[in-house]
Amino acid sequence: MKYWMSLLILICVLGVSITGEAQEVLRLRGVPFDAVKVTDAFWGLRIEINRVVSIPHCIKMCEETGLVDNFAKAAGLMKGDAKGIWFSDAQVYKTIEGISFSLALHYDADLDRFLDGLIDKIAAAQEADGYINSHKTIKLKSARGTAEDPRWSNLSSGLELYVCGHLYEAAAANYRATGKRKLLEVAIKNANLVARLFGVGERRDVGGHQEVEVGLVKLYQATGEDKYLKLVKFFIDERGRSHGRKLRGPFSQDHKPIVEQREAVGQAPRATYFYSGVTDVAAITGQKDYAIAMEKIWEDVVSKKMYITGGIGSLHENEGFGEAYELPNKTAYTETCAAVSFSMWNYRMFLLLGEARFIDVLELTVYNNFPAGVSLKGDTFFYANPLESDGIWKFNRGYVGEQPYMYKEGSATRKPWFYCPCCPPNAIRFVPQIAGYMYAQRGKTVYINFFIDSDSVITLQGHTVRLKQKTRYPWDGKVKITVEPEQPQRFAINVRIPGWARGRPVPSDLYRYLNESSEEVTLKVNDRSIALNMRKGFAHIERKWDKGDVIELDLPMQVRRVAAHEKVKDDRGKVALQRGPIVYCLEEVDNGKDVRKVCLTNKSKLTTQYRGELLGGVVVVKGSGTVRKEDERQAKEVEFTAVPYYSWNNREAGQMVVWLKWNTAQLGSIRRSSMRNL
Ligand SMILES: [Zn+2]
Repeated sequence: MKYWMSLLILICVLGVSITGEAQEVLRLRGVPFDAVKVTDAFWGLRIEINRVVSIPHCIKMCEETGLVDNFAKAAGLMKGDAKGIWFSDAQVYKTIEGISFSLALHYDADLDRFLDGLIDKIAAAQEADGYINSHKTIKLKSARGTAEDPRWSNLSSGLELYVCGHLYEAAAANYRATGKRKLLEVAIKNANLVARLFGVGERRDVGGHQEVEVGLVKLYQATGEDKYLKLVKFFIDERGRSHGRKLRGPFSQDHKPIVEQREAVGQAPRATYFYSGVTDVAAITGQKDYAIAMEKIWEDVVSKKMYITGGIGSLHENEGFGEAYELPNKTAYTETCAAVSFSMWNYRMFLLLGEARFIDVLELTVYNNFPAGVSLKGDTFFYANPLESDGIWKFNRGYVGEQPYMYKEGSATRKPWFYCPCCPPNAIRFVPQIAGYMYAQRGKTVYINFFIDSDSVITLQGHTVRLKQKTRYPWDGKVKITVEPEQPQRFAINVRIPGWARGRPVPSDLYRYLNESSEEVTLKVNDRSIALNMRKGFAHIERKWDKGDVIELDLPMQVRRVAAHEKVKDDRGKVALQRGPIVYCLEEVDNGKDVRKVCLTNKSKLTTQYRGELLGGVVVVKGSGTVRKEDERQAKEVEFTAVPYYSWNNREAGQMVVWLKWNTAQLGSIRRSSMRNL
């Protein structure tokens, strides 16, 4: 009897957790990236380098590797075979998206003209019924084109729908930035074809690599056409349901319907592009079962499958998620594309549910994993972003070097372009949008997510409010926000108090701080301290705001020692260093050949120093530890210098380590006290 009762209770508990209600779907509205003028050193510099170096670099590489000519060849304007990987039109579309966003921030007539010419070629490559895929069109038009490889014949590795998704995103961005409709018309014509071919009563199939979902949402938002929303819902609901087709399995999140999924599986960019699309539709339609699935999967990622750098997708084998707590450091894959798509998803989750925990994770990614993917000069890239390197193992993906752009093996340094060049153009479209993550609003509440020196104008219920941030974040925790409503007005400002400033490096038990912070967060309005009225991770300040009111936030910037959950075997007996949102690493160039043997002890005093001349301006962490070589009986004391993880491999390739060895006796006592605290 007791057994049955416990079973019944267990079923009830599981039942609640599986079918339980999601939180209230709040549906916040984002503030567009071009409503913010970024003036800070960290992002201001990156936006400018993106404009003057990375964008011209991606254009050059798309041209020199033949990806632009592919459209001319498909249009019959040139002769020859298609060049590059078969889904490479997507790289050109992402480049267009990046250029368009950059134009919205900084108009450049030459780039605008370049885009016009490129879009003319793309439009010419589109077939009469709306089909566009240069590789396939070139092949089908040539004598070798046969019925064995017709259109939409291989959605799995052919990625035709994935390429369409990037076309739609580029078209929406280009229309928004320039007001020109030519690429939008190409996208509409193509989406109309896709809508005729796929759906209930038509072909019931989905793309192997998701992306069409977020693209269709952008097209829906740009045109207001319901049929695109209906189509994206079809692609979401059809995944994991076999209507006469063979399911593609967990790699493509195609093992069961999304509303039944509770764990993150498979290739990480596929997964997070997909979750972004599902979250978009949940926000637009208020569909609860989507929201429940998204929240559960997100919690699975953040509590079991995420690096301290905010990176996801730990395995090279599947470019994706491993088992729970499977987070190797040297072989961490954490693709730069996954940093982009994970960021997209986190921001959408925040808009859906209005909680700061999603921004906490987003912040980790955008200050650590993502910027590591791009060199400080802006013209070389990491595909994979490991947390440890022996300086020898070639973790970065195969690349194409100098002319004639033949494939070369991987490397242990950043490279200008890859055989599959998905990451560089993904980076150039992400950087200009960064300020789009800073603010959001709902009713009479403004949300401040990020602290970036900037000047913004937000429209709140028909009135404008100017918000000016003065800060040296992420190097300094002091943030001064001047509020200027066009007339005195009552509304609320929700200021995010980062999890790291409240004792939690991540919003889960995956990582924890070992040392307490001796300082508290302080918040002032017009020089008077106010209590933190916390709501979902935000300090809520509601009052009648006058022009020139000032909010001052002071976040304690102490170096924190981070330990991972016991189940992460690769981090056992180790600590990472974090200061504010920045995760640190030790590099061989600063610390010599024994850098990966450095052991931090309880005696290690950690100090910080701002070095304006180093790595674009960084705060370095200095400390002491011990090193014990295999042939030595006694450990010797060493001094070390740690630099922000994102900046590694910019001076020279070499060894690097994020997770340092930790005096295990010390860890034992800390572990016991932490257990008690739990
Ligand atoms: Zn990539």
